[in-house]
Amino acid sequence: MTDLADLRSDFPILDQKMNGHPLIYLDSASTSQKPNAVIDAIDDFYRTTNANVHRGAYGLSNDATDRYEAARARVAAFVNADAGEVAFNRGTTSALNQVAYGWGLYNLKPGDRVLLTLMEHHANIVPWQLVSRHTGAELVYVPHTGDYTLDLDAFTELLDDRVKVVGVTAMSNVLGTINPVRQIADAAHQIGALVVVDAAQAVPHVAVDVRAMDADFLAFSAHKMLGPTGIGVLYGKAELLETMEPAEGGGEMISDVQLDSSTWAAVPHKFEAGTPPIAEAIGLAAAVEYLERIGMDAVRNHEVEITGYALDRLGAIDALTIYGPTDTSNRGGAVSFTLADIHPHDLATILDQRGIAVRAGHHCARPLARSLNAPATARASFYIYNVRSDVDALVDGLQEAREIFGVA
Ligand code: PLP
Repeated sequence: MTDLADLRSDFPILDQKMNGHPLIYLDSASTSQKPNAVIDAIDDFYRTTNANVHRGAYGLSNDATDRYEAARARVAAFVNADAGEVAFNRGTTSALNQVAYGWGLYNLKPGDRVLLTLMEHHANIVPWQLVSRHTGAELVYVPHTGDYTLDLDAFTELLDDRVKVVGVTAMSNVLGTINPVRQIADAAHQIGALVVVDAAQAVPHVAVDVRAMDADFLAFSAHKMLGPTGIGVLYGKAELLETMEPAEGGGEMISDVQLDSSTWAAVPHKFEAGTPPIAEAIGLAAAVEYLERIGMDAVRNHEVEITGYALDRLGAIDALTIYGPTDTSNRGGAVSFTLADIHPHDLATILDQRGIAVRAGHHCARPLARSLNAPATARASFYIYNVRSDVDALVDGLQEAREIFGVA
């Protein structure tokens, strides 16, 4: 296994006990833990540079602006975008709402279709539902196959000239499945549809290149990639950002304001209404720097190793069902499962008594949960600071649950 074990000491939160046991954090698909480098960068910003940005008639504000814009450049480069193609916002959810309300609202009409996948997180479903109420566009879903990959035959069949936008998650937060975004984008572009990529799970775990993907829009959240909460990223191709309307209005995003109309600031600022998440951007840049220092290939290798180990060990537990591909080459580190008929919340509670944090529920993907006939699952998800002994502890906890519930 790529030896990232030494990294654990970079994450102060991991050095504590929970319910009398060492904390074992297996919920990074929800939110990741933060290394000292990120915590310190935010602390340093507030101690030395804090001022509002883009308003500066004074040195401190100019310094804050410089650091904020340098953060943008660093984050953009991380996904092979230009700084002008990257707008900061509150997170993946707000980025996808921006696309639905800024592009969808103005470009969709009755008879049009939004083609999504059944694997989408609610963040890439509900904004389109809200906008379709205004536009009359219809939502259609690509199902998945029995091996938890996207049904590409069904996708091809559904992709007709009514489809104006395809929304796809690059990596499922429930199944772990990595979707063939480039292949989907090529097909969508052939019929003139745009591709909106939910990369909330992908950017933290695999090297993402927006140009190689040929994504028209792509969204991700800092908090899942070692960065702070409260900030996310919308990437858009420059020509689309130029013509797309802002979904939020207010200060900072205007060029001029008259009594009854306004003109917008240049891209990407027209998508950043109000005081932006400044310290958060500094923290996100520090997270990117930290990940780059490790190298995204090493991040991915570690994840493949530990997920493979988890799939082997969990797969050996009787009556345990894993929902997701078992081949690590096309999946990430989110492993959802059920154990006999024990409710996932009971599993999570028993594991919590051993200091192990897993998530239980529908994971904000109810249409997917319904399609799996599994309204709730338990989910263990891994990141760079997880080691094999975390998986061993999880397996021991699940064995205890079997005994408590008398599973034969
Ligand atoms: N999309 C996916 C695939 C996710 O896993 C999540 C978070 O769990 C989101 C979108 C929403 O991200 P956020 O809550 O940071 O906006």
